[in-house]
Amino acid sequence: MEKERAIVKWNSSMMAILCSGCRTIIKTGVDFTPEEWNYAKSKGCYLEPQYCEKCKNLKMITPKQKAQSIYRDAYLRWCYEISQDKNVLTAKSICEYICNQVLSDMGADRGYEFWTEVRYIILNSNHMELYNS
Ligand SMILES: [Zn+2]
Repeated sequence: MEKERAIVKWNSSMMAILCSGCRTIIKTGVDFTPEEWNYAKSKGCYLEPQYCEKCKNLKMITPKQKAQSIYRDAYLRWCYEISQDKNVLTAKSICEYICNQVLSDMGADRGYEFWTEVRYIILNSNHMELYNS
């Protein structure tokens, strides 16, 4: 797979660098460094993907923190058995399911946009539309 690079776009006659996470504009041409101008003008150059503050913070989350976060969410939202052991198994099973779903689409280069659309369809469809394939 090709190495990920910064996203540069024309935005109302101004050159802009977009966040590689959420696609918001990070900076426009007036604030570009010479290196960034070089990259914008010639695709032969390489510039690391750039991220806005929000996405930078998200990227700082360690795998362990993410694991704890989805485990806690699963446990608190969906595990109401009396048996603690059963709740632990259920929470882990939910976490494993989430990870497997995300992993299964990684190779096809389907990240942020794909999952945003999946979420949108789930939230905006009724039971019949989702359950029947
Ligand atoms: Zn961002």
